[in-house]
Amino acid sequence: MKLCRFDDDRLGLVEGDIVVDVTPALDDLPRVRYPLPHLDLLVAHLGELRARIDSLAAQAPRRSLAKVQMLSPVANPGKIIAAPVNYLKHLEEVLADKGIHHGNPILEIQRAGLFLKASSSLVGAGQGVALTHTDRRNDHEVELAVVIGKQARKVAAKDALGYVAGYCIGLDITIRGPEERSLRKSPDSYTVLGPWLVTADELTDPSQLDISIRVNDQLRQSANTDDMVIDVPGLIEFASSFYTLHPGDVILTGTPQGVGPIQPGDSLLAEIGRIGRMRVQVRKAD
Ligand code: MN
Repeated sequence: MKLCRFDDDRLGLVEGDIVVDVTPALDDLPRVRYPLPHLDLLVAHLGELRARIDSLAAQAPRRSLAKVQMLSPVANPGKIIAAPVNYLKHLEEVLADKGIHHGNPILEIQRAGLFLKASSSLVGAGQGVALTHTDRRNDHEVELAVVIGKQARKVAAKDALGYVAGYCIGLDITIRGPEERSLRKSPDSYTVLGPWLVTADELTDPSQLDISIRVNDQLRQSANTDDMVIDVPGLIEFASSFYTLHPGDVILTGTPQGVGPIQPGDSLLAEIGRIGRMRVQVRKAD
């Protein structure tokens, strides 16, 4: 199933180029009160909601995908985890270009570990990227995004895919410079997730997916998730050995070679096999 959020927080089931509006299914979510749990309520209860979504879909209003504004398919991730330099050819290009590494120590991922992006940086494809600090280099990074489906602590790689709710396309927009990654990658709109969540029953193996991004129709990054240094199960094992993963947590799995600058006015087209494609407009922040 392909699930999206659109317009004024509506829930959609994507079928081809149609969005089926199944928003009433959200009424089945439990009422929560302060203090809020560190998880995404929809992802946490997706299993129970599926039957309701399916039964609503038969009679639900249908909209053209082209006519709705796509929001992030995960509304409230407790954390956004990201993998630095998880493709060898990207590691090589980072080491070769001072415009990317800025004299920062660049370690292979086994030593560098993971970092976190602010959850307030998250937007959907239809909301676009608003660049800040436009006097500096702002880069695109296209990445496979993994959405965790159930609580995970010290999970072994062989069991890890059982903890995945689904997959999206992710953009890890980055200001190049000397500061910590978490600062440079966390301005508002610097994490794009979309265009929808493909549930793990529909996409069972994330290891052989073509991944690419075009800027103004020019191909910039093109690779396959098979080229990852640490694969998706390995990343879940690694992350869950340090902290508990909660439903809705997002893991950005690293970007392949070909990163490059973007400018206000650019149009990005990101694509991952078996997930789909999303177009994202770039503007200057207010
Ligand atoms: Mn990245």
